[in-house]
Amino acid sequence: MKLLFVSTSVGPLGTGLGGGVELTVYNIAQQMIQRGHQVQIVAPAGSTWDNLPLVQIPGNLQIIAQSQERTDPIIMPENPVLANMWDYARQVQTDYDLIVNFAYDWLPFYLTPFFNRPIAHFVSMGSLSDALDQMIVQVAKQFPGTIGFYTASQAITFSQLTPPLHYLSSGIDLGLYQFCLHPKQQLAWLGRISPEKGLEDAVAVAQITQIPLKIMGKIQDELYWQQICENYPNDIFEYLGFLSTNEMQQVLGECRALLMTPHWVEAFGNVVIESLACGVPVISYRRGGPAEIIQDGKTGFLVEPDSISELVNATQRIGEIDRHTCRADAEAQFSFEALGSRFEKWFKEILGNR
Ligand code: UDP
Repeated sequence: MKLLFVSTSVGPLGTGLGGGVELTVYNIAQQMIQRGHQVQIVAPAGSTWDNLPLVQIPGNLQIIAQSQERTDPIIMPENPVLANMWDYARQVQTDYDLIVNFAYDWLPFYLTPFFNRPIAHFVSMGSLSDALDQMIVQVAKQFPGTIGFYTASQAITFSQLTPPLHYLSSGIDLGLYQFCLHPKQQLAWLGRISPEKGLEDAVAVAQITQIPLKIMGKIQDELYWQQICENYPNDIFEYLGFLSTNEMQQVLGECRALLMTPHWVEAFGNVVIESLACGVPVISYRRGGPAEIIQDGKTGFLVEPDSISELVNATQRIGEIDRHTCRADAEAQFSFEALGSRFEKWFKEILGNR
């Protein structure tokens, strides 16, 4: 297949601004290339991946959907990179069999009927905007089978979707994550630093348990981060920056657990499987993607959403989890090859249906 991947419009690839979907785009592209397909990625200028075929498109980044209200109208900046990427896709479409949209934006859904090549839409977050929801429902109806999600708990946040829906889960190159059996007395928190990610809950756990917390990820909301630093002035947590996968997995592996504390319905949580791959159990709120991935009492603990005291209890019981089981679970359920097979099957189905 000749595949054109159109990336997220909220940040250049490799900066962390796009969150987990960056890793997902990277991994699927690699898998498709390994399987002999031709892949071209279209992404905002400033993307730093140099080992994959990338066309860099200039323009202003899209505002993140998480910072907007559900009823807000669709907003586009002047000279929008989103529109510029899709204009490029329009011009080169006849060189490809399938276009794959990874942007959580209204425009690519709206444009779908105007293209003469099929478009697969991979939706990377739960429902956040009424206008986008409506457009996704419309595309699902008009082009059955072209909408893909990470998980069922994510898809269920969108109402009135016409089946078939595809739940594609995620997967990682396990060879890049080293298993660590003997952690230090420290906890990890990973992800974009933005209110919906609930970092303050993990900091509170560190303060109560007095176990130091290593924080890694892109600061997306500077005010939110400043607020956390003001509210928790002691040095029980340390911010290490946005690290490469290799640097990140080294620190992560040395942690007793990953704290996953989202205040929204997390669509998947790539960091959960990255953590399991290092042998690090995950403690998370019982909702969204993490609740589908973590096996309570086996690969971590699932606790009552937003309950700090339950997070603390789980942290104190973390020694009950066998780190080998965590790694084995990542190998059994989230392999790179299985990820490639699921996406390849989905793409072929879309092409076969035409
Ligand atoms: N990440 C990283 N370096 C860091 C912290 C995070 O590369 O220092 C990556 C991590 O590998 C994951 C992504 O950031 O792929 C966060 O994705 P997740 O699916 O957990 O959440 P999202 O940001 O999509 O809501």
